[in-house]
Amino acid sequence: MARIGDKLVEMGLISKDQLQVALFEKKRTNKMMGQTMIDLGFITEQALSAVLAQSSGFERFDPKSTVVDPDLIKKFPKEVAARYRVFPVSVDGQQARLAMADIYDVLALDQARRYFPLGVEIMPLVCGETEINEAIDQYFGYELSIDGILRELETGKHDVSAAAISSDSGYVHPLVRLVNALVLDAVKVGASDIHFEPEGMFLRLRYRIDGVMTQVRTIHKDHWPAVSHRLKIVSGMNIADKLNPQDGRFGITVGNRKVDFRVAAMPTSHGENIVLRILDKSKSLLGIPQLGLSENNENLLMRLLKRPEGIIIVTGPTGSGKTTTLYGILAHINSLDVNIMTLEDPVEYELPLIRQAQVREGTGMNFSDGVRALLRQDPDIIFIGEVRDKDTATMALRASMTGHQVFTTLHTNDAAGALPRLGDLGLDATLMAGNIIGILAQRLSRRLCPSCREMKTASAEECRILGADPDKPPKIGHPKGCENCRHTGYKGRLALHEILPMNKELDEMVIEGASMNMIRQAARKHGFIPMADDGIGKVLKGSISVEELISTVDVTDRL
Ligand SMILES: [Zn+2]
Repeated sequence: MARIGDKLVEMGLISKDQLQVALFEKKRTNKMMGQTMIDLGFITEQALSAVLAQSSGFERFDPKSTVVDPDLIKKFPKEVAARYRVFPVSVDGQQARLAMADIYDVLALDQARRYFPLGVEIMPLVCGETEINEAIDQYFGYELSIDGILRELETGKHDVSAAAISSDSGYVHPLVRLVNALVLDAVKVGASDIHFEPEGMFLRLRYRIDGVMTQVRTIHKDHWPAVSHRLKIVSGMNIADKLNPQDGRFGITVGNRKVDFRVAAMPTSHGENIVLRILDKSKSLLGIPQLGLSENNENLLMRLLKRPEGIIIVTGPTGSGKTTTLYGILAHINSLDVNIMTLEDPVEYELPLIRQAQVREGTGMNFSDGVRALLRQDPDIIFIGEVRDKDTATMALRASMTGHQVFTTLHTNDAAGALPRLGDLGLDATLMAGNIIGILAQRLSRRLCPSCREMKTASAEECRILGADPDKPPKIGHPKGCENCRHTGYKGRLALHEILPMNKELDEMVIEGASMNMIRQAARKHGFIPMADDGIGKVLKGSISVEELISTVDVTDRL
């Protein structure tokens, strides 16, 4: 282990003299080099494990900013963790992550392996010995289930002062554990938002999952002041202020996922209402193949992206996944030889290599100022979060005429609707024609749970909606409900799309001021597939149900 000593000298973390002292001490005590230097006070355990992580290429485990699933801990004996100084962090598919005080301890690794599912590959994470001991103390020594913690709160007296619930190693305090447990639970079930809603006598907790609000549990109102206190502390809000709306944020690692929480507090007649928006960074950055595009649409999108200049518009209502799609596209074209710049309100996910600027309507840089400034930064590709006014729209189109690939979003119901919407903003039709390359419209539909969906032969009515031959009815999926989907029958969401590629004929029609319907009719002659048909294709594949199709897209002409 002399190497680590040299490395620390090289990095300037210890002096050569200190290394000599440590080598001498090591011979005397027969301890490891790293431990010797910690004992001598030359370096802190955190600094040492950061250096070890860096030089070994392994990640570091920081128990203070990570929430580990207690279900995983249950399967792991405390004796093994304590004796071999290891701690299980996550199991995800074929990979498990194990924090180790000594990542080269083969015996510890072999012992720990027995408590993970067979065939799982174990990734060691670097962690200090004290930190491992603390994690063991926290996870094996205290109640971690939501129900258990609530029972604990009801039976004992607890100090709910700010000092007691603001400390970092506050897991001793049940309220700190309660907030962690709630956050872990919400991330595990795939919620996008957590709502804490104070009512007269109780606090209602609801999650938004796949776009739908779901009641989770009610908590006695006595706990709310302290829980809201804790939430406001971790998200950096002013705890003294309970009368004004406040925003904050915090980030933690849940298992193996880095998750950001955007927190908003709002005073109501029953106390402060707090909503946590969950930004799961690992979940939201999808590549183009994961966007749920049909094969036909994916090929079409790829063709549009090959065009060196012009504007591509993604449309849909709020919460229809437009940003996810655009990030997927940007991640696809992102490389070292292009300069991609974005203007967003707000910047939701940070993408490597891409320069992202935040727009603040009203108080700071607005979209039209932003586009102007951005064009002076020599970009190749521009993403403008949203086109809301003539000024921004005109500049976006001008940029697309001068050698830039431009992406933006609009709120319209379908792809063809984007053309009259831009006209309504006051945009000149001759500017639109030839510069808009294509318009992608989308909606999100709840996906049938793959573990429990039931495949049944379609009824006559379903055949009519699907445009299928009733004499040869297809098999389609229905929701059932199981553990995997919290008995809803649905798991996650799937986007339905339509892509309208522009061409000379459609450009002419735009200039002549043709109606949306005329444009759709003309587009169909060129092979345009409306969103309803894309949805039908997804029903026939068993991905979504007929009920979801009807509630997501307009199929009234088939009912
Ligand atoms: Zn299910």
